[in-house]
Amino acid sequence: MFAGELLRGWAAACILCRQWGGYMSEMAWNTDIPAGWVDAVSAWSWRDWEEDDVRVGQRKWGPCPRCSHTMAVYARAVQAIRPVDAVPARCNCREAHSNRPSDADGGCGVGSGVPVEISVR
Ligand SMILES: [Zn+2]
Ligand SMILES: [Zn+2]
Repeated sequence: MFAGELLRGWAAACILCRQWGGYMSEMAWNTDIPAGWVDAVSAWSWRDWEEDDVRVGQRKWGPCPRCSHTMAVYARAVQAIRPVDAVPARCNCREAHSNRPSDADGGCGVGSGVPVEISVR
């Protein structure tokens, strides 16, 4: 009896998880910015970005708040008259999303329409 209930519970959980998984993988390209997306990405902490021991700037990464795939934001330390205090952020995950334009550099679409800027500070 107990084992049967456990099994039923597990099967129910598994169906939910399959549905969720299907929902996530079928998320189509959409350039709308979901509520909270900018705040969530802004909250990730910046890390020093070095290449061959040379500091190129800062970068940060985390799960895209929309598609949950890993995306990254780069703030290249460019020689500018004024220091850069905002950089464009867009989902650039490497997972497949249907309807993605062939010239898009990855992502699920967030930030690929109207540019989204997040603070570098
Ligand atoms: Zn994605
Ligand atoms: Zn995404």
